[in-house]
Amino acid sequence: MELPASARIPALVIDKVSKRALEQLDQVEKFVQDRCLPADVIYSKQLGRDHKVRFSTVPKILDDLKAEARQQGLWNLFLAKGHYAEGGGFSNLEYALMAEQLGQSYIASETMNCSAPDTGNMEVLAKFGNSPQKAKWLAPLLDGKIRSAFLMTEPDVASSDARNIKFQISKEGNEYVLNGSKWWSSGAGDPRCELYIVMGKTDAENPNPYQQQSVILVPARTPGITVHRMLSVFGYDDAPHGHGHISFDNVRIPAENIVLGEGRGFEIIQGRLGPGRIHHAMRCLGAAERALDLVLARIHEPTKKPFGKMLHEQGSVLEKVAQARIDIDSSRLIVLNAALKIDNGNAKLALKEIAEAKILVPNILGRILDFAIQVYGGAGVSQDTPLAYMWANARTMRIVDGPDEVHQAQLGRLEARRAEGVRERLRKIKALEATLAAQYKVQLTDALSLEWTSETKPKL
Ligand SMILES: Cc1cc2nc3c(=O)[nH]c(=O)nc-3n(C[C@H](O)[C@H](O)[C@H](O)COP(=O)(O)OP(=O)(O)OC[C@H]3O[C@@H](n4cnc5c(N)ncnc54)[C@H](O)[C@@H]3O)c2cc1C
Repeated sequence: MELPASARIPALVIDKVSKRALEQLDQVEKFVQDRCLPADVIYSKQLGRDHKVRFSTVPKILDDLKAEARQQGLWNLFLAKGHYAEGGGFSNLEYALMAEQLGQSYIASETMNCSAPDTGNMEVLAKFGNSPQKAKWLAPLLDGKIRSAFLMTEPDVASSDARNIKFQISKEGNEYVLNGSKWWSSGAGDPRCELYIVMGKTDAENPNPYQQQSVILVPARTPGITVHRMLSVFGYDDAPHGHGHISFDNVRIPAENIVLGEGRGFEIIQGRLGPGRIHHAMRCLGAAERALDLVLARIHEPTKKPFGKMLHEQGSVLEKVAQARIDIDSSRLIVLNAALKIDNGNAKLALKEIAEAKILVPNILGRILDFAIQVYGGAGVSQDTPLAYMWANARTMRIVDGPDEVHQAQLGRLEARRAEGVRERLRKIKALEATLAAQYKVQLTDALSLEWTSETKPKL
């Protein structure tokens, strides 16, 4: 008999989780296991195969489960304490534990109105929107009545460096006129998608490249917008959500739709991506747990005995099971630590911890899924297990919200800033070594001088 999720929380954080959150966590787990996991396959069957239908209908089972989840109070759990009164009011740490459960199932996040990109978009509106913007867009999003997309990436520039964005937002009287092209607009395929949150340049000539960008709220069906196509991910279309390639041709939007004011785009995207990256990482952990569950089930399958032994009798298989367990449990600590750091300060103060989680967990998930696929043999790459689709999703996580390398570069720079202190400490040790060497009459050699010269001292 397995313990409930509340009894499996790492000892390091257990005292940081409220009684209410523990109860809710178990309720989330139960809903995911009893209602969402069995419904995943039905959802996929209800979507069918016809491209047009896939992007114009929402499977009925999803609406039914949304109503059920909401009735049980499992709704908007992601809106962290202090952000918005109607949210679950849990800390990021508490929500991170729940998000892990959601990550087990394809549809669970949406049944509880906790799916990306709406979560990040709702955070933007809750944190940065004014009252009319909240009333018009946040209220129906919180209600689960509409969906939204976040449009930043562009086909013609290296968008991992958001300073490169070319999309034009030009002021004309009481309106902004929008021109340009966006792609990978996740969620834009959904027939319920009513809102695009668009990032572009209002002041391309500003000498400060971080003040050129603004964010504006665009009703999805405004004249001048063309959704050209839906991009596929390793051949999967991710319908009905989808990833749109969209162009804007003189799209006119009222000036009051600008968020926070001109030139505040970077501030907004940083606010959006902080806790959201933890959500992704935690959901990835849930997916990793599911993959490991599927491994355990398969290696104990009595009908599958290659070379006269069941797979769990093979030492090499058990070694990989052990490594997967270590990888998941250690990654969870990294993620929870990042969530706690956000709770104790804010996303800006937790940059290092967020980057660690964002880089680590999708890589771990990819490795575990690769192992799971291998254990299943041919079935692992087929439609008969969820593993192939899970792998495709996991692989994209190393690109979505900024590729690994961007976060590694940021983390590397943060680490490098410690160099001055490190060298100072080593210099002190070296001086003490020299004193001891003189006392004990020992000859020392050393590869490092630990002196700076005016040319070599880095600007840290
Ligand atoms: C499934 C999916 C969903 C997405 N959803 C959205 C969405 O909803 N909204 C949105 O706006 N965007 C979305 N994106 C886009 C995603 O955020 C971008 O693809 C990502 O930021 C990279 O930008 P790019 O594709 O322009 O690649 P580029 O910026 O051209 O980068 C290409 C590669 O260059 C390398 N690179 C970049 N910087 C460095 C560096 N400093 N050091 C070393 N190597 C480096 C990396 O390997 C990187 O993958 C989505 C992408 C995918 C795949």
